[in-house]
Parts: sequence; structure tokens; C-alpha cells
Amino acid sequence: MAETPGSGSALWFVLARLGAAIAIGALIGLLLGSVAAGIALVLLGYLGLHLFRLYELDRWLRNRSRLDPPDATGLWGDVIALVARLHRRKKFHKQRLLETYRELRRSTASMPDGVVTLNAENEIVWFNRTAGELLGLRRRVDTGLRIANLVRHPDFQRYLAAGQYAQPVVIQATASVERWLSMQLVPYGEGQKLLFVRDVTRQNRLETMRRDFVANASHELRSPLTVIAGYLETLALDSGIDPELQAPLHEMRRQTERMTRIIDDLLVLSRLESEAGEVAGAPVDVGGLLTLLRKDAEARPQRPAEISLSLETDMQIIGDEGQLHSAFANLIDNAIKYTPAQGRVALRFWADDDGACVSVSDTGIGIAPEHLPRLTERFYRVDAGRARQTGGSGLGLAIVKHVLQRHGATLDVESVEGRGSTFTCRFPPRRLAGPAEQRIRA
Ligand code: ADP
Repeated sequence: MAETPGSGSALWFVLARLGAAIAIGALIGLLLGSVAAGIALVLLGYLGLHLFRLYELDRWLRNRSRLDPPDATGLWGDVIALVARLHRRKKFHKQRLLETYRELRRSTASMPDGVVTLNAENEIVWFNRTAGELLGLRRRVDTGLRIANLVRHPDFQRYLAAGQYAQPVVIQATASVERWLSMQLVPYGEGQKLLFVRDVTRQNRLETMRRDFVANASHELRSPLTVIAGYLETLALDSGIDPELQAPLHEMRRQTERMTRIIDDLLVLSRLESEAGEVAGAPVDVGGLLTLLRKDAEARPQRPAEISLSLETDMQIIGDEGQLHSAFANLIDNAIKYTPAQGRVALRFWADDDGACVSVSDTGIGIAPEHLPRLTERFYRVDAGRARQTGGSGLGLAIVKHVLQRHGATLDVESVEGRGSTFTCRFPPRRLAGPAEQRIRA
């Protein structure tokens, strides 16, 4: 600690006093016949005085909150003043810290969202009233227990173990199956975490209503559309029809086909959305699937000159064959639609330490960077006019995204406008299975 300005002079003062006391002792000793005895007597008194000061300081330090600092001058006075100042400063900081802490607790306690603080072992340290209500936690009983023992939903357990907390996980509350909770972990400090809990029952109900509405509307629209399409077909085959009506009839048939495609895609999306969580599925021979899709693509009358396929692994992907077929077919369909006749489309399937990937690359028109983040939104089109011409439903990539989500996979899009695009589906290692023959032998 830095020396206080007065400490040097106080030391000299003490030494001078000690010198004077020794001199007085020597004088008294001289008068009484023994100088040494006189000095010893004075030194004893001096020592007694210091012991008394020390005792007073010790007593005060032990009972600081009740006692006033002892009265003293000189070096002892300086020491006591210094300790008293440090004590006051510490008390002030402690008070301020306590107030901030109480303020923080009060604000989090009154938050509409639930908050739980967890230590590095994922044990509950504290939770606010909302978290207690939403998760059915009891302050006295559950504090100190592991959160995984209290929130036992498998999706939450998986979320907690995975360590990927960028997105929340939505689970059904244990206390009431009617209630849906969004849970998000935010790590801080050394392994500690904040768990935010929100009641998303209302949003969930609205989402379900929206999904049901789209599914029902699509179903209802399908039957009248089939009738219209049927009549239009009959009319088109009728040789007695006015030639002037041929062109509008042709356009009507084209638009009816487009509407049918949109409705079919909406129904596929509704089905994908209505099932929660990942698909269990079975090993799918992706190599075989891509070979078939390539053959179909090559059979199309309007297609790029080259459609190649590179199978670099014979692993299989565990999933739903129908859904995977639909996702890859949509990507290939887009690559063909948005690539000119002299262009190339390349399909690739490979595996590495991070899992397995299926990619569809083309040398087509490409996509400007600003469109990439929104590409998988329903009905999002880079160029609405062109997309309508190509007959797309605008739902293809939304379907791809949903299928991949249900397989724990992700979609990467790389594209340069005017040069081409690469859509890569990345499947995690847990979705991989050995080649078909190996599985049979095993
Ligand atoms: P659509 O049925 O209109 O093709 P998608 O959801 O499949 O709908 O695709 C959304 C939009 O993304 C398309 O309208 C198109 O603008 C763009 N897109 C998709 N794939 C490609 C591609 N391979 N090359 C260029 N643009 C693409």
C-alpha cells in the first residue's frame, strides 16, 4: 500500500517520544540510583501503552459495526484513521453492490418472461416467479437441483446437451399439455447459464390455425380445380372449337396446371409442418435416388446440355425416402429451370467427418447476394415475372428447407449472379448409415 503523507513524520515523532522517555527514565534512574532500572521502568510503561492501543484496535476491529474507533494520537491515530477510512469505503461499495443486486433481482423478478440462473453443473441457483409458475419450480425444494431432472422433456434434454443455444427450443409444458414453452439458454461467466422461458401457447395456437387453414383451403380448392382442369382438357380435344379460342384455352390450361402445382406444394408443406421434431426414418440409398433423378432430368425436353452425377460415397442417409426425393427433385428442377440450354448441372454426393452432403450446382443465371437470406421463404422469388414464366410454385425451396430441418440437416446456398449457383444439403453424422450390403451382413 502507498505510504500516507503523514506516516514519515509520525514515525519521527514516535522515535523522538521514545528517546525522550528513555532520557526521562535514565534521569529518574540516576536519581534513584539505577539508570538501567529507570530506563526499564519507562520502557515497560511504554510497552504497556502500546499493548493497550493494540488491544483497543483489535476490540474495535472485531466490533466495527457497534463501536466507534478508539481515540488515539500519533502513529496509532494514523493507523486507526486509515483502517476506519478503508472500512467506510468497503461498506459503501458493499452497500452499492447490494443495492444493484437487489435492483437486478427486483427487475428480473417482475419480468414477464421466466428467468432461471444455472451454475456450471446446470444446477438451479435462482429463478424468478414467472419461471417458477411456467416450469412448476418450488423455491425451497428445487433450488440446487439439476434443471435436467426437473424439465424432463426429451427435446429440452437434447438441447441442453448439444450446447448449441443460438435458437430456442419449443416444448410442451409438463404441468399442462395445453401450454407451450419456448426455452433459450444464454451462457455467461465460467459455464454458468441463464435460461429464458416464454409462454408461446398463443403464438403456437395461431400458428396451428394458420397451418390448418392453409391445409383445409388447399384441400377445398383441389376438387373444383380438378373439375375445371378436366373440362379444359375435354374442350382442348374438341375439334369443333373456334380456332380463336385455342390460344386462351391453352393459357387457361397452363394456369390451371400452375395452380394445381401450387396447391400440391402447399399440401406437401402443410404435411411437413404438421409433424413435430425430426423424422425417424430408415436408411435411404441416396446414390440410387440421385441416379434416378438424374435419369428423369435427362429425359426432360428442355434441359441444360450436361447433367452429371458424382457419387463419392456409398453411405446411406437415415430419413424419409419420399421427403428426400422431393427435396432433391426440387433443387434439380430449379437448377434445370434457371440454367440455359448450353449450361451444365452437376449433382454430387459425398461424406466427410462432418457428415454427408448432397449438392446441386448449375452454371445458370445465379442469384444476387441480397436475395440469398430470403430464398427459402414461401413464395419468395428473385424475379417474379421469370419465375411465373418457368411455372414455379414459389414453394420449392421452402419444401427443401422443411425436409432438411426434419432430417437435422441444413441448406447452404452459394451463388454468383450470371455464373451459377450451388445448393448444398448437409446431413449430420448421426443421419449416416453404412452401405446397404454392409448393413445386411451386419
Ligand atoms: P420457384 O418455384 O419459383 O422456383 P423456389 O422456392 O424453388 O420457387 O425458388 C425460389 C426462387 O429462388 C426462385 O423463384 C428463383 O428466383 C430462385 N432460385 C432457386 N433456385 C435457383 C437456381 N438454381 N438458380 C437461380 N435462381 C434460383
